[in-house]
Amino acid sequence: MRTLLLTILALLPAFAHAAAPRPTNIVTCEEWKSDPAPIPDERKHTPRYITLHHAGVLWTNSQTPEQFLRNMQAWGKRRPEIEQPPRNTYWPDLPYHFLIAPDGRIFEGRPVEYEPESNTKYELAGNLGVEMMGDFNQQRPSPAQLESAVRLAAWLADAHKIAADDIRTHQDAAPGSTTCPGADFYRYFNSGEFKQWVQQVQQGQEPQIIPGAPLPDGPVEVITETKKR
Ligand SMILES: [Zn+2]
Repeated sequence: MRTLLLTILALLPAFAHAAAPRPTNIVTCEEWKSDPAPIPDERKHTPRYITLHHAGVLWTNSQTPEQFLRNMQAWGKRRPEIEQPPRNTYWPDLPYHFLIAPDGRIFEGRPVEYEPESNTKYELAGNLGVEMMGDFNQQRPSPAQLESAVRLAAWLADAHKIAADDIRTHQDAAPGSTTCPGADFYRYFNSGEFKQWVQQVQQGQEPQIIPGAPLPDGPVEVITETKKR
């Protein structure tokens, strides 16, 4: 009996893959001095998808990622005063759960136990929202940003038992209503490469992330090189 048990234990690592590790470059809410308002309990949800976004705003390095986050968070809380319907809903915290800076740092946003926010119509409950700073219809994600998106998605998928096929983008969640996350990032979902890279991390390998050549009619400049226009 004991021998059988030991044999089973010895074989286990060959079958069960170890969970993808938490990315080492996460900046916690405490570290960037997040200042959210309380989120009501009725907005708690169970994550079923990882949904990727871009900010949709050209990143020109004119502010730090920390300033960008503080501004977005403050704006969300003031929406009822400063925005027109239907955009005037109150956002107590950042609309996304994680936000990835051009240098690859991953900032914590809204706690994962609460559903996100959006200005497009789709079922918000169940989504873990990951936003990449920048506009990938006008600039290209940096290699560091791509790698962080892959490692974060792999870790979240394992931690929340989300299948690789349920890692998607905003335009997959809300077809026809947005071009988010931008052509030069969406290409890696079209090609299946993003999913491959995630699975490499989940299998304990180094992801073989190779950015593609600029798309025909797509942006050429990488986000870290974009100058103010
Ligand atoms: Zn989006």
